[in-house]
Amino acid sequence: MRVPFFDLSRQSQKLKHILLPKIEEVLDSGQFSGEACVSTLEQKLAAICGVPHVLAVNSGTAALFLALKALNIGKGDEVILPANTYAACAAAIRQTGARPVFADIDPYSWQMDPQQLPHLLTPHTKAVLAVHLYGIPCDINTIARFCQVHGLWLIEDAAQAFGTQIGQQKAGSFGDMAAFSFYPTKNLGTAGEGGAIAFKDPAHRHLLRALRNQGNVQKYYHEVAGYNFRMGALEAAILEAKLPFLDEWIKRKQEIVTTYRRAVDTPYIRFPQEPPNCRPAYHLCVVQVPDRHHFLKYLDKKGIGYGIHYPVCCHQQAVFRSETAHCPQAEYHAAHCVSLPLFPELSPQEITYVAEALNVYRPR
Ligand SMILES: *Cc1c(COP(=O)(O)O)cnc(C)c1O
Repeated sequence: MRVPFFDLSRQSQKLKHILLPKIEEVLDSGQFSGEACVSTLEQKLAAICGVPHVLAVNSGTAALFLALKALNIGKGDEVILPANTYAACAAAIRQTGARPVFADIDPYSWQMDPQQLPHLLTPHTKAVLAVHLYGIPCDINTIARFCQVHGLWLIEDAAQAFGTQIGQQKAGSFGDMAAFSFYPTKNLGTAGEGGAIAFKDPAHRHLLRALRNQGNVQKYYHEVAGYNFRMGALEAAILEAKLPFLDEWIKRKQEIVTTYRRAVDTPYIRFPQEPPNCRPAYHLCVVQVPDRHHFLKYLDKKGIGYGIHYPVCCHQQAVFRSETAHCPQAEYHAAHCVSLPLFPELSPQEITYVAEALNVYRPR
C-alpha cells in the first residue's frame, strides 16, 4: 500500500459539486476583487473565531506583516517568536525593520516556552509573536499575562490553527492581533492563496484597510503608502463554501492523530503533549524519533509519505542567523521531527496501515 502524506485532490473531488456553482457565481458577477467580495466571509470568520474584527488578505504572511505594521512595529524594535516556526514569521518581522528574537521551545509541547520570555526581554521589545504550531495551542494564557505585565503587544500566528480551541476561546482571539493563513494545505484552505487578520481594537480598522488596498480608503485618495494585499473573490467564495465542513475535518484529523497515538506503545516515537482544556485543530501530525534517517527509510520502505516541519530552525537559517539565540530544544526538534500522513480524506485502511507500521517500528 502507498499512503500519501497529503492529497488535496480527494477533497476537491468530494466538494466539486459544491464549489463549481460558487465559482460560476463569481464568474457571472464579474466582480473579482474588492471589499464587497470578502465582507460576508470576514463576518463569518469573525463569528467562528469569536473576534470582533476580521479583514481578509491575500496570504498569512501579509496578515502577519500588516499586524506588525498596524501596531507601529519597525526599526529599532524587537519581536520575540519561537525558533521552530515557518520562516514567514521571522521574515514578516524583518520586513518591518524590526529584529526577530528567537525563543526556545518546551520539550514536550514543542511550542514556545514562556519561561524563556523574561531572558529575552529588553527595552526594545515591543511584541511577542505567539505561534500555535501544528494547530496545537501554545501556552497563550501565560504568554498573554507576560505581555500584559510588560506592556507588550501580543500577536498570534494562528496560520496553522484555524479552529483550535483553548478553554472556551478560539486561537486568534487572545492577541491584540492575529494572523490566519488559507494556504491550500492549512486547516481551512482556499484554491489559491489567502489569509486574514483578526483584531480587537476597532481603531486599527482604518489603517489596516488602507494598508491592504494601496493606502486608499476612499477611491484614488491615498493616505499612506500601502500595499496590494487584497483577497480575490474566487478565493473568498471557495473559503465560504468550505466553512460548513471545517468542524467535521478538525474532528476527523483529531481521530486520526488519536489512532496513531494509541497504536504506539514504544518510547521510540514521541507525540506532542496537548495542553489541558483544549481542542487542537491538527494541521500536522508531527512526531519525534531518535534516529530520523532510519525512521524515514522505514517509512519509504512501507510506502508511507511524510514531511519535515521544519528541518532548519529560523535562527539557523542563513538569513536570520542569530549569534545570541540559544535554542537547544528547538534544534533537537528540528533534527528529530517527522510529519505523518494527516488529512480528513485518508481512508480507514490507510489510517490502520500507518498505525500498524508505527506500532511495529523499532530503531536499529
Ligand atoms: C503558512 C504559515 C504562514 C504563512 O502563511 P501564507 O498564507 O503561506 O503566507 C505563517 N506562519 C505559519 C506558522 C504558517 O504555517
